[in-house]
Amino acid sequence: MTDSSNGAGRFAPSPTGEFHVGNLRTAMLAWLFARSSGRGFLLRVEDLDRVRAGSEEIQREDLAAVGVTFDPPLLRQSEEQGRYAEALQSLDRRGLLYECFCSRKEIAAAIEEAASAPNGGPGAHAPALYPGTCRDLSASERERRRERLAEQGRRPALRIAADVRTWAVDDELCGRTETPVDDFVVQRNDGAFAYNLVSVVDDAFTGVDQVVRGDDLLDSAGRQAWLAGVLGLPVPSYAHVPLALNAEGRRLAKRDGAVTLRQLSERLGSTEAVVGLILDSLQLPGGPRTLEQALDVFTPSRVPREPWVFTA
Ligand code: GLU
Repeated sequence: MTDSSNGAGRFAPSPTGEFHVGNLRTAMLAWLFARSSGRGFLLRVEDLDRVRAGSEEIQREDLAAVGVTFDPPLLRQSEEQGRYAEALQSLDRRGLLYECFCSRKEIAAAIEEAASAPNGGPGAHAPALYPGTCRDLSASERERRRERLAEQGRRPALRIAADVRTWAVDDELCGRTETPVDDFVVQRNDGAFAYNLVSVVDDAFTGVDQVVRGDDLLDSAGRQAWLAGVLGLPVPSYAHVPLALNAEGRRLAKRDGAVTLRQLSERLGSTEAVVGLILDSLQLPGGPRTLEQALDVFTPSRVPREPWVFTA
């Protein structure tokens, strides 16, 4: 737990590789939001999945180099499994979970079918949402499908039976935003606890009451805020910041050229120059050159609402 009584923000990278400047910019913004409101700032390593050896160290070095500092404790999700299991059990005890036997292919087909149903079936306006195929299976059907999966050495995923279709969050930058809530997976069929569950549990456990992250995750905010309520946990405030895009208007990626801190420091001559470049994109008054200087002039409401087009 953080001992900050003023709440906390966080940055929660997945250690899947080296950051690019867009990731660093999001981290810097999350830090500015937290520090400018007197909050603590925590690092959470989302290492339940797709971990690349050495990434955590490189990411932490980069964050330190651009001035993003953290308060203890550092949380690694791989070390927190007991808490996720407890949350899952509490949902299960309340009868809110069901087994899902669908393969990806079956889900895609069910979504397509629902979307093409006459009068716009339940999936018509939300084609990416799980249409609830396994929600009402009989006990004997579940048993049969469980056995069939077991024969293939597989097991079902667990989904939460949502009693809403959407949930609204008040986002500091995007305004009141209603996002979909389907029967999302809380435990995957490989046994891993799913992102939405662990994120909600971790934020509450560490006293995080402010979530600032890329706006590619805005769609998850409704599910997470709703789940927090179901688990009896406080709902944090949200601010989803625009992402960095490449010259073609697509999300910036490593293949776009010199986009990592190392590559850009070499090209521009110093790390400080890269920090300056990122800070320039925030259009802060006075043109601060360091994150500490930026803190003096940062106002959340004046964060640019347009994506940052970065041409490497
Ligand atoms: N681990 C996620 C990512 O790297 C961020 C999750 C979050 O901020 O809620 O995109």
